[in-house]
Amino acid sequence: MNVITHIRDMQQWSETLRQSGKTISVVPTMGFFHDGHLSLMKKGMEVCDHLVVTLFVNPTQFGPTEDLSSYPANVERDIDLARKQGASAIFIPNKEEMYPETFQTYVELTDLPHHLCGISRPVHFRGVATVVTKLFNIIRPHTAIFGSKDFQQLQIIRRMTEDLNYDIKIIGCPIVREIDGLAMSSRNAYLKPEQRTSALSLSKALNLAEEKIAQATVPDAATLKREMKQFIESHDETQIDYISVCNPETLEEVNGLESTVLIALAVKVGKTRLIDNCVIAQEQ
Ligand code: AMP
Repeated sequence: MNVITHIRDMQQWSETLRQSGKTISVVPTMGFFHDGHLSLMKKGMEVCDHLVVTLFVNPTQFGPTEDLSSYPANVERDIDLARKQGASAIFIPNKEEMYPETFQTYVELTDLPHHLCGISRPVHFRGVATVVTKLFNIIRPHTAIFGSKDFQQLQIIRRMTEDLNYDIKIIGCPIVREIDGLAMSSRNAYLKPEQRTSALSLSKALNLAEEKIAQATVPDAATLKREMKQFIESHDETQIDYISVCNPETLEEVNGLESTVLIALAVKVGKTRLIDNCVIAQEQ
């Protein structure tokens, strides 16, 4: 596996493969790999001849009070895991090359970022869209793989790819969970053992919602959100950022529960911000 740190080298590596008729998939990440990342790599290996994993803790997607400086990292372990997974290359660019002092171009979507996480993280999706655009331009992949754990991010990247006419297939993969149901996340490393039960309240609240919709025991989304809120707040150290029941395409809030909905939530457990979601499909 090639460990590539310079943009020019990455471009040349991809170009050579493209010219020899090979297909390339990319899995963009911020590192500190867990089984969620590995599941995306596995998918990337299946769909193309060569997989490129990117590892870049993207400063432009963090707000000024967020955890950029403390974001967990173990680059050597990540390189080893990507190699074992069968990646052909891992791209680890540095901040100065990705964002030189002269940098002034950003990619911004008009609607999708103004829901869910975008409300409390106003610069986040501009940073995500910008870095993914840069990675697409540098690597020129045929396919890019993202997790539906970050559902809003996945929808934003799908929209952006279509809007900017990238000839790249976007694949979304299911959320990988710990045995107890906690959605895997690099940020779970921040959780103290005693916060673990509270962290589980997210996936449990989603299960509760799913049951209530299936049994038709809630009349509308407002009631459902109230019950989820009550359940989560009964756990120590939880602070809800949002609970949303929305249209999975537009991310606009809905109140009726007759059509397919995305239920998404963000909750701080102590200082750790966790997200989770599920789509509840209804036959039309
Ligand atoms: P990150 O390193 O957190 O930026 O995540 C890199 C990619 O892994 C994104 O596409 C995430 O959606 C995806 N991902 C993160 N956690 C999970 C998970 N538990 N299951 C599936 N994909 C995930």
